[in-house]
Amino acid sequence: MAPALKTFKLTRRSAIGGLVSAVSCPAFAGRREPDFDVLIIGAGAAGIAAGRRLLASNKKFAVLEASDRMGGRCFTDTATFNLPYDRGACSIHLPSQSSLAKLTAQNGAQLYPDPERQQFKVRGRNGLEKDLEEHRSKLELEEFYADRVRCYAAITQAAGKDDISCAKALPADLGDWRRTMEFVLGPYRFGAELSELSAKEYAVSIDRDAARLCRLGVGALIGKLALGVPIKFFSPVTLIDWGERSATLATGEGVVTARAVIVTASTAVLASGKIRFRPNLPGAYAAIRSGLLQTLSFSKGCTTPKQRRFLPTCMERPCPFLL
Ligand SMILES: Cc1cc2nc3c(=O)[nH]c(=O)nc-3n(C[C@H](O)[C@H](O)[C@H](O)COP(=O)(O)OP(=O)(O)OC[C@H]3O[C@@H](n4cnc5c(N)ncnc54)[C@H](O)[C@@H]3O)c2cc1C
Repeated sequence: MAPALKTFKLTRRSAIGGLVSAVSCPAFAGRREPDFDVLIIGAGAAGIAAGRRLLASNKKFAVLEASDRMGGRCFTDTATFNLPYDRGACSIHLPSQSSLAKLTAQNGAQLYPDPERQQFKVRGRNGLEKDLEEHRSKLELEEFYADRVRCYAAITQAAGKDDISCAKALPADLGDWRRTMEFVLGPYRFGAELSELSAKEYAVSIDRDAARLCRLGVGALIGKLALGVPIKFFSPVTLIDWGERSATLATGEGVVTARAVIVTASTAVLASGKIRFRPNLPGAYAAIRSGLLQTLSFSKGCTTPKQRRFLPTCMERPCPFLL
């Protein structure tokens, strides 16, 4: 039985379908019709995107979220700095192609170019231009940006031919910067070594335009987009017992069944084994690796004038530093 599902805080739409059947039935797969057509695990950006798609269908579905809030790694903190501050994702990359950027406008939220990116100038020229080699400065920061532009250009050029790894595409004369570039472009950006990344795929992900920030906060924006999506908080899924026709999920509060399950928990969660799969998932899953990204943030008010020399001058928002 799944008695605790009586406390499901679902919206009107899901209450019509899923709640009633989930509460009233023993929820063991195979014995009866599944409680839901689809269960989504995780109310982060991916889970909410999946929920929005399902809202447009007639499917009976719900999102099971382990924590007490939605957004996952998109989390806008409004308390610490008294203004919206994204503690996780803040930049909307590739804005001209981003579906999130389009949804932002449709939902009345405002985007603005990332001021730090606008500052990426090398001798007065846009630091993201491809042909900056002749302008390389002796200044360390400029050198870094210029070399990064050269790496991007080399990867883009390699992508036009037979696909090779990004590691092979990098310019040969990076000197002392090689290790830094290999890290920044590889594990830092994509959680994988450049030798494992395809130049063709990398080339389409390079930001040619400044990323956009959201005045409301990316986390708050994701929350807005979740309107109408039925989310059950405090529902960590610990086991997915899956078969051809349905799956049974164990949560902290009982079990629930569905015809299909969409798992959006992070690779770190999957690798930790916090969600067990019965039977185990096929081999590739075992190879999942993950990294850790943390930021430390300052607001203007928290810093002395001397410290501010090291912060971006255009700081109109709390400034995150990568740890
Ligand atoms: C500090 C930081 C800065 C970043 N900056 C950017 C950026 O500027 N731009 C950008 O595009 N990306 C950025 N990212 C990456 C971006 O945040 C993530 O790619 C994105 O938020 C992932 O969304 P997701 O829905 O896939 O996963 P998540 O956000 O991790 O959501 C997964 C959800 O599943 C829930 N969950 C986990 N386990 C269970 C379980 N067992 N049962 C039920 N629920 C469970 C979690 O609580 C969480 O809510 C950043 C990430 C970090 C950490």
